[in-house]
Parts: sequence; C-alpha cells; structure tokens
Amino acid sequence: MTKIGIIICARYITCGGGKCLRAMREHVGGFAKYPYDEQLELVGFSNCGGCPGGNIEYVPEEMIKNGADVIHFATGMVVGYPPCPYIKQFKDFIELYYKIPVVIGTHPIPLKYYNTHHLLSSWKTMKMEEICRPLMTEDKKIMESYN
Ligand code: SF4
Repeated sequence: MTKIGIIICARYITCGGGKCLRAMREHVGGFAKYPYDEQLELVGFSNCGGCPGGNIEYVPEEMIKNGADVIHFATGMVVGYPPCPYIKQFKDFIELYYKIPVVIGTHPIPLKYYNTHHLLSSWKTMKMEEICRPLMTEDKKIMESYN
C-alpha cells in the first residue's frame, strides 16, 4: 500500500479531481510506476495556494502527518498554458525539506494538450521532457483516452 498526497495548480482550484482519481485507479500516468496490484490510498489533496505557490511550503506537513509516503504534482502543472514555472523548485524544496519523494504527474497528459505543447516553446525551455519523462513517453492511446 502506498499513501499519496496530491497537490494541484491553484489555477484549477475548482477541478473535481476526476482524472487524477481515475488515473490512480487505473495505475496510469504518474501512477504507472506502482505495480498494478499495489493498493494506492489518497491521504491529502490540496493546491499550491496560487502563484508563486506559498502553500508548497506548508501543505506537505499535513499530508505527511496523515501518512503520505509520496507527493504527486497534478498533471495540470505540466499541461497548463503556460506550465507552472516553479515545478522543479517545488520538487527540490519538498524533497529536501520534508524528505519525501515527489512525483511530477497524476493523470496521463491528454493527447490534445500534448500535441499543442509540442508546437509551443515552453516545454522545451523548461526541459519538461526530462523533468517528467514517464508522462511524456506514455502510450498515445492512453493519452487520447484522457482527452
Ligand atoms: S502556475 Fe504554479 S505557482 Fe502558479 S498557481 Fe499554478 S502551480 Fe501554483
């Protein structure tokens, strides 16, 4: 069993979390790294607090108190227009300060966003392909099913 905290981009604060929870159930996207028969439990769901992400400093503490083994950044941080410019700093801070692993990504990248981002410069500038390679190399049929 792995206990998971999810932090989403505050631009999508009204999101119902449907894609993230579906991906947890299907073990795809950022959750593909866990064996299919491993139970995943959501123990925290919050947002960054709005640019430039003040809640990143505090919210992991509550997730850890509730048993989180790992924190996932929602895929919206990667696929938003523009992507969150602080992803790498957030991950570095949480892993250093709270000593808990951070995975970039929850649900698969919807194929329509993947295709559009490849026509834009932001992913290249941010080296996004390196930062979250598992999301980027996911089967395109799975990405399409999350459009
Ligand atoms: S772009 Fe980054 S800092 Fe700004 S609201 Fe989204 S996750 Fe937070």
